[in-house]
Amino acid sequence: MSSSLTSKHRKQTGRGSVDLVVRNAQLLMESGLVRGGLGVKGGTICIIATDEHLPEGDVTIDARERILMPGLIDGHAHIHDPAMLSHESFQSGSRAAAGGGVTTVIDMPLTSQVDSIKSVEEKIQQGKAHSVVDFSFYAGMINSGNVSIIPTFIEKGIAAFKAFTCAPYQAGTGVIAKALSEVSEYGGHLTVHSEDQGVLDEFKKDMDGEWDAPISHSLARPNLAEQLAVRQNISLAEQTGGHLHIAHVTTREGLSEIESAKLRGIMVTTEVCPHHLVFYRDDMNRLGPRSKMNPPLRTKEDRAALWSALLRGMIDITVSDHAPCPIEKKEAGKDDIREAWAGVDGTQMILRVLLSEGINKGRLSYTRLLRVAARNPARIFGLYPKKGTLRIGSDADFVIIDPDREEKITAEMMFSKCEWTLYEGMTMKGSPEMTFVRGTQVFGDGKILTKPGRSEFQAMGSGGRPVGE
Ligand SMILES: [Zn+2]
Repeated sequence: MSSSLTSKHRKQTGRGSVDLVVRNAQLLMESGLVRGGLGVKGGTICIIATDEHLPEGDVTIDARERILMPGLIDGHAHIHDPAMLSHESFQSGSRAAAGGGVTTVIDMPLTSQVDSIKSVEEKIQQGKAHSVVDFSFYAGMINSGNVSIIPTFIEKGIAAFKAFTCAPYQAGTGVIAKALSEVSEYGGHLTVHSEDQGVLDEFKKDMDGEWDAPISHSLARPNLAEQLAVRQNISLAEQTGGHLHIAHVTTREGLSEIESAKLRGIMVTTEVCPHHLVFYRDDMNRLGPRSKMNPPLRTKEDRAALWSALLRGMIDITVSDHAPCPIEKKEAGKDDIREAWAGVDGTQMILRVLLSEGINKGRLSYTRLLRVAARNPARIFGLYPKKGTLRIGSDADFVIIDPDREEKITAEMMFSKCEWTLYEGMTMKGSPEMTFVRGTQVFGDGKILTKPGRSEFQAMGSGGRPVGE
């Protein structure tokens, strides 16, 4: 394809019978790609048709045969609003989301507890005031003192809960069991960061004297830690019947535990992050402390297993685990990797990675892209079919992408508050060109086009495992 799709291809007549029409597109439907376009009225999709059957729109966009797919749902992003505004905020984090084709971002609070009704209401107000995309959020963190919040939160539309098996937010096995029992009874799901603390405690001793090498961070957190924690959490899900969602799986061993549990019919889903699909352990010494995150980068073989599981439907969704920080907090680990902040940017990169490393390298199909990035997260978070699909009556959340456009990734193009990116200097093939939230264009021409104030909180239904995966 030739030049970029820009505002030049947008015509405003104000004479249409609907608000917006996008024509001459390849629509990514659940069944695959079809030619045509769609119309939007009052923020929802009102018609999907071939070009000759589309009505006149107040605004018409010629998509120039680009691919139009449902907006991404990023189900795991640390927006940190208002706890760590030096890292990210709804304003900057949601702009990064929009620039990555994400139309609903699901914040996962870490340091600020969202465990009272008052805190839910405050969080909704913050999101409405500052976000440029739709949003929802996790309750958290689950610990021994707050398992009882689960039924009340589900009633308020917060049906996603987070727990850790490891420091610094470690919840005991009993707490995880109780939380899974609650979601079994009331709906929703429990997401667990699964690394075994006992294994981590022991293996880090082997690294003494070697902490100046960034790769030590990965070597100190062996695959075994993930495997054991995943296995234990699956046992708890089996006992209780609660929906367990394994956060950011990274290892072959973890995947095989999940795969066999799925085949036994246990209610378990999982997710993968773009950085684990791009980088691997040996990149760490080259990339330095920026490449520190938890779980860490793994081997090339693990990375290949993640791609395979994503294609086969054993990994249900893609998420960013967006958790950037001021660069000083990374540089602090220059001589001792333990001192660096663990976390990287990501929400602006999910779609780019899936296009460049997935579609364009033959590791992913378009129908799988739709499922893992949009449809399945909408199902797991109970937002389907309002979100995550192109259907009449669904919210007009979509992104127009050019799978052939080459783009050099730079810190300057990032909308995150933290002005660095792990992907700096990489050339990626395939990128979002326009993002729409409920029919309003929020991203285009490389810029954010709207001000905050139009975003809506998305109350989660009880969700569940994607059907037919
Ligand atoms: Zn996370």
